[in-house]
Amino acid sequence: MSGPPKIILPGGTVGVLGGGQLGRMLAQAATRLGYRVHVYEPQPNCPAGAVAHREVNAPYEDLAALTVFARECAVVTYEFENVPAAPLQAIESLTQLRPHWSVLETTQNRSREKRWLRDHQFPHARFAEVAAGGDLAAGISEVGAPCVVKTADFGYDGKGQLKVMSAADVPAALARFAGQPVVIEQFVDFACEVSAVVARSQTAAVRVFPLAENIHTNHILDFSIVPARVPADVRAQAEKLARLIAERIDLVGVMGVEMFVTKAGEVLVNELAPRTHNSGHYTIDACMTSQFEQQVRAICGLPLGAVTLNTPAIVMVNILGDAWAPRPGSGQASVTPNWDVLFAQPNVRLHLYGKAEPRPGRKMGHFTVTARDADMALEFAEKYKARLA
Ligand code: AMP
Repeated sequence: MSGPPKIILPGGTVGVLGGGQLGRMLAQAATRLGYRVHVYEPQPNCPAGAVAHREVNAPYEDLAALTVFARECAVVTYEFENVPAAPLQAIESLTQLRPHWSVLETTQNRSREKRWLRDHQFPHARFAEVAAGGDLAAGISEVGAPCVVKTADFGYDGKGQLKVMSAADVPAALARFAGQPVVIEQFVDFACEVSAVVARSQTAAVRVFPLAENIHTNHILDFSIVPARVPADVRAQAEKLARLIAERIDLVGVMGVEMFVTKAGEVLVNELAPRTHNSGHYTIDACMTSQFEQQVRAICGLPLGAVTLNTPAIVMVNILGDAWAPRPGSGQASVTPNWDVLFAQPNVRLHLYGKAEPRPGRKMGHFTVTARDADMALEFAEKYKARLA
């Protein structure tokens, strides 16, 4: 499935589909290692293009443009899973696509992803699928409230999902998802959410980065805390699941595995992302090898790097466009966040993605805080975040 191993040494060209912050940090890691980076992104002036050797702006469905792009790259990867899988199948015959397109095809659709988890006996929340035009009410009653209805395609950061807490919420769900293919999941009353970034090389070596504990606000990742504050057996179980998933799906590259830890200490897999993950940004500042360098290593046939922590604890905080919001009634369009709060701290590193327009909910950057334990790092992180806006 993964094809014959092909080693691409520094100097070679790495292609990235998608030009957001994940592509940008990948390009930064790859260029540090001496690779050339070409970015393919429909929107001009993207965050990744600003730090790459070449930026191509064309739709993902433009097979002619994709073909020219692929021919210039020794390997092509993708930085988000909503790249249409079908055109990528064609470019696999022109160059190496890592991870393989079937990994993308499985993980970019919630129905296929859930089915794959079930078929491979990975623990997950109970679910039902409703095809386009199917009987959503029957699906909801099959799973039972409380449950979460999610669109099968193109969902992330809680987009395209709705909680159904009781029968009273069913009409709203029917109105919102009428006719669409959806997955209905049992609502998990979790103790916490965790995620692991796992890398697998062309020679099937696997490395799992230390588990992150994630706190979401409005469905968007707010804080990632490392090490995750979970018992050792829960951590071991979560890291083992990430490893087994990488093996069973025949990953070559990196993958984010999002999981719920139930109050009984059970680990359930929520979602797979066949790319670097927001909760793995801490690795840039806290690990010998970042998740982005690991992605380069994995897709270029190099040995995987060490994933041990070089700090006792670290917390990553997402900086959203909301940090630019002016005080109500001030008459200003936007304000500059108080960067001084972060620059003044010896244990803080700031990463900004070069996005011009700070829209609410838009990921503009992140910062990390190191400390001697996770609770202390979180306390600092919350304090600095509050002073930033
Ligand atoms: P997702 O887009 O599936 O990653 O969901 C975004 C967030 O919604 C998750 O990180 C959870 O906080 C919450 N969520 C999603 N599915 C469920 C579920 N079945 N039970 C409880 N919370 C959920």
